[in-house]
Amino acid sequence: MVAAYNMPVQTHNTNAYETALAQFDKAVRFLSIPDGVAEFLRYPRREFTVNFPVKRDDGSMEMFTGYRVHHNTVLGPSKGGIRYSLAVDMNEVRALAMWMSWKCALAGLPYGGAKGGVVVDPRALSPRELESLTRRYAAELIPVISPHADIPAPDMGTNPQIMAWMMDTYSMTVGYSVPAIVTGKPVNIGGSLGRNEATGRGVITAMTEALKRSESLNSRNIRIIIQGFGNVGSNAAARAAELGFTIVGVSDVFGGIYNPNGLDIRALRAYVADSGDLRGYAEGELVSNSELLTLPCDVLIPAAMEGQITRDNADKVKAQLIVEGANGPTTTEADDILNGRGVVVVPDILANAGGVIVSYFEWVQDLQAFFWDEDEIFRQLDRAMVRTYEATEHTAEEYEVDMRTAAQIYAIKRVAEAVMTRGFYP
Ligand code: NAD
Repeated sequence: MVAAYNMPVQTHNTNAYETALAQFDKAVRFLSIPDGVAEFLRYPRREFTVNFPVKRDDGSMEMFTGYRVHHNTVLGPSKGGIRYSLAVDMNEVRALAMWMSWKCALAGLPYGGAKGGVVVDPRALSPRELESLTRRYAAELIPVISPHADIPAPDMGTNPQIMAWMMDTYSMTVGYSVPAIVTGKPVNIGGSLGRNEATGRGVITAMTEALKRSESLNSRNIRIIIQGFGNVGSNAAARAAELGFTIVGVSDVFGGIYNPNGLDIRALRAYVADSGDLRGYAEGELVSNSELLTLPCDVLIPAAMEGQITRDNADKVKAQLIVEGANGPTTTEADDILNGRGVVVVPDILANAGGVIVSYFEWVQDLQAFFWDEDEIFRQLDRAMVRTYEATEHTAEEYEVDMRTAAQIYAIKRVAEAVMTRGFYP
């Protein structure tokens, strides 16, 4: 019998793929690329589903389902994270893989897009069960991953330790160490300095670029709300606090905390490191995740999951600037409402590209067996984020469109041109 905690749940995720396709269709209309090429880019190249057993600590056996989707591989090997969540399903993975294609193309990386996931709540497993699940899933993926074909990384619910188990499983199977098989590994086995901080730091770089250009926000004491306090949210909070911004609200899956006078992010991170989540932190007013999104602030950073800003709450969002740390947090209907209200949205494929940019640096370092210091990583990351922001901004001006459509136009154009240069096989 399949236990409740690993039962695939069909939720909002059909919408994530619908959102990804709607964004693509909106952007592709601005480009004069052949219909056949546009159609080709709407489809994932390969979709892989695996069903596998894991032995529980009590000796029983449970079945789990995992996925890996390669959306496009024209610019290079496919790249994208692995998500452990009960909300994972094929449509969510398809959407996330497609966004990875555009994100890599926008940032100028020599990668296509991929994504993977397992339908599981990782908090419901013991460390030993989590390791077994990860190793078996990695073994099941061996036909479709390689350092030259498809390179996984962490995403929601996964972390450097899980990447270490994936790297070890792959290495033990082929018979020698292959650090470049995954990125986001611990530094002592070939991970890159700065990878943990990269996405959150990049989100704040994108935010500061947007603030510089905002007439209403550029001279104010900026108040920020962040939804999600995992890798992206907590590192974005830490970087923002380091630069002197005030974080007035944060949340995790259990709910949020709001304090209009500002939260002490160092204390909050220490609390979460100790207790595992935000529950019980007393220095603010308790709010729900949906309330948090509409509380007073200047900048809202959704950094949890997709489908959070919808037609139901988009008109209530107080922030004048939204910087998408998460992938797909804003639905297309919400985008229209926000654009109509003059709220600037720095889109996911631009705002959270810092993760894949430093993953690219990690892969390059692993392939060359030559490692860079942290200053070098952050210098190159900051430059890449500003360059990507400027490319999106120029495209927005050229086509007179919002930042999301501009980012998609730029990325789709780059991939479409590569398709046409390579030609169709056979
Ligand atoms: P994570 O697992 O480290 O953290 C996720 C956070 O979101 C946790 O605090 C969790 O409690 C919270 N959360 C989960 N479900 C929630 C819900 N329904 N409502 C509110 N909060 C909820 O994950 P992460 O790596 O920080 O990823 C967060 C988002 O950023 C995802 O959309 C992911 O795809 C995206 N992203 C991550 C990276 C990366 O490098 N890790 C890179 C680019 C984009």
